[in-house]
Amino acid sequence: MIIQLNYDNEDAVIAFAAKELGEYLSRMLPCTIQQNGSGSEADLRISLSTHSEEKHDQFRIHMQRRNGYILGSNSRSVLLGVYHYLHTLGCRFPAPSKKYEIIPAITEDCLYISYAKSASFDHRGACIEGANSLENVLDFVDWLPKLGYNSFFLQFSVPYTFLARWYNHENNPYTWENTDGANGAAPADAKPSKKPYTLEDAVSHTAVIESAMAQRGLLLHKVGHGWTGKALGFSSVAWQAEDRPLTAAQREITAQLHGVRDLFCHVPLNTNLCYSNPRAVDTFVKAVTDYAGEHPEVSCLHIWLADDCNNVCECDECRKSTPSDQYIHLLNRIDEALTAKHIQTKLVFLLYLELLWPPVKERLHNPDRFILMFAPISRTFEASYDLSQKLPPIPPYRRNHISLPSGLTENLSFLQGWQKTFSGDSFVYDYHLGRAHYGDLGYVHISRIASEDIKKLREMGLNGMISCQELRAGMPNWLPNYVMGHTLFDEELSFDQLVKEYYQAAYGKDYQTVIDYLSKLSELGSCDYMNGKGPRENPSMAERFQEILKTADEFLTVIDSHRIPLSQGAADEGETDAPACNACAAFQYDSPFWRLLSYHRQYVLLLGKALYYMANGENRNASQNWNAFREYICRMEPYFQEALDVYRVTEITGNHAGLKRLSQDA
Ligand SMILES: [Zn+2]
Repeated sequence: MIIQLNYDNEDAVIAFAAKELGEYLSRMLPCTIQQNGSGSEADLRISLSTHSEEKHDQFRIHMQRRNGYILGSNSRSVLLGVYHYLHTLGCRFPAPSKKYEIIPAITEDCLYISYAKSASFDHRGACIEGANSLENVLDFVDWLPKLGYNSFFLQFSVPYTFLARWYNHENNPYTWENTDGANGAAPADAKPSKKPYTLEDAVSHTAVIESAMAQRGLLLHKVGHGWTGKALGFSSVAWQAEDRPLTAAQREITAQLHGVRDLFCHVPLNTNLCYSNPRAVDTFVKAVTDYAGEHPEVSCLHIWLADDCNNVCECDECRKSTPSDQYIHLLNRIDEALTAKHIQTKLVFLLYLELLWPPVKERLHNPDRFILMFAPISRTFEASYDLSQKLPPIPPYRRNHISLPSGLTENLSFLQGWQKTFSGDSFVYDYHLGRAHYGDLGYVHISRIASEDIKKLREMGLNGMISCQELRAGMPNWLPNYVMGHTLFDEELSFDQLVKEYYQAAYGKDYQTVIDYLSKLSELGSCDYMNGKGPRENPSMAERFQEILKTADEFLTVIDSHRIPLSQGAADEGETDAPACNACAAFQYDSPFWRLLSYHRQYVLLLGKALYYMANGENRNASQNWNAFREYICRMEPYFQEALDVYRVTEITGNHAGLKRLSQDA
């Protein structure tokens, strides 16, 4: 059949949506695609257009014989509509990589369906963390609208640190210029550069990423931390220490702690200013105004203070106010400066660390400029937000003696306190895939928590979520991001239904066996234990880790039943090229998900052992097994780099779970 796609070529996002629709349809059924054709021979003409330029995403899909349309409330919604339609036709986008896509064959009759959708929330996004190649970020950006997301947050003025970690090969001593697995070569992007990654490299990579976002109409969030360092004259694109002593002028505007004005632990990004000093405020305001003026492409500019706590100024003037009152005063000044320059950029302000305590006196003068962002970084991920209980009172604020709330109700008290002072737009910035996910070895638990959390956002008075996360979070699969994206777009979606859909696509006929297996690993693991909460020696956790080892061990027969025997030549080649302990990399499986599951099983066996010994109080064994785990994942990174962030899992298992300290003690 001939399918003609008609659209306004001037709109780059809709043109991209049409290209995507044409490409996927031509892979699903025998057809010829005409882009903006005028011939009369087409069997189906589909028009792609918008009826307005609303902020809220919604679309209507109407397909019948001869004619059809995808009509969006804005250009991005047309693209969201295209991907939603493809999903309805059976396409699955289960990972941020085209090699995992599932594109079914369909007949013409399947095309003819009609429905409309409106997004449940306006803020649906993710924020870059971890270590990433340019290709990793581009794959992620490409994936976002396929799941219903509409935003991406590139932290700092340039996301230098997240790219540099990959290109400078942090936490992985090996290089792999010529590593070819038997089952296809390691991806071309899996080649960390030997020359140091520069800020200029990051600037040019950022331009490529932002252009990919613009092509998809994704909302760009920028900066966050870094303004305090910037006001002091530092570049602030990483949590880097500075050795140079501050000048007198710099000292004057820096927070005073124990009678001294200096960088906090040498890190500008973690240093607060003396916000009662008008020169500190002026410098801060100018830094933001200049940046916003130079970057009209930014939709949401995040204005955050230092990324550490108990380090606010103790001078006599600052003591007359609270950090949050000083923050609101600063935000009002920024708003006035932007308004004077006719800059419309939305500003995101942050409830985090001492700023969790609501302001006492100050209020935002122009609430429409602002978006509230609640960041419960210290929360537990063992359970979802509990809205059924009466909230405890907010503890009194004690300057430089705060402790962070881990309880879910305590966290909600702070949010509610702020909501009494501000009723504008808002979202949660949450951390399911920030650290906690490494404690969930099956990823079913953390996905369920994300689903339950999202379904409570409305009641919490929040308009969406940005997930602060590792982008390479696919061990054993990418269910968490899949659930988040789809549920943020449609809060009515059943979690169990999404799991079934995902596993059927990934694992085929044995999907229920895999659900049972990974659910069991999830039940036995602990996000809190991995996050360093509770004692390290813990007999009940030791028992659970032992059970994890047994479960993973026994699953080998199922995985092996999905292994495809190689021809002798290929087998020889595979076994010589791939590293030791390599069944997952050296053999073929009937889908890339089974191959990944085989790798994941080895990962669970090695990490599980290290955690078991730690929980059992056997520090030397824990340390040795953590080293064996790291050796293995470092060697295997070229084969599975899109699924596991070796930099980050090393940091979390080492510093947060505590395995590094044990190895130093042992
Ligand atoms: Zn001060």
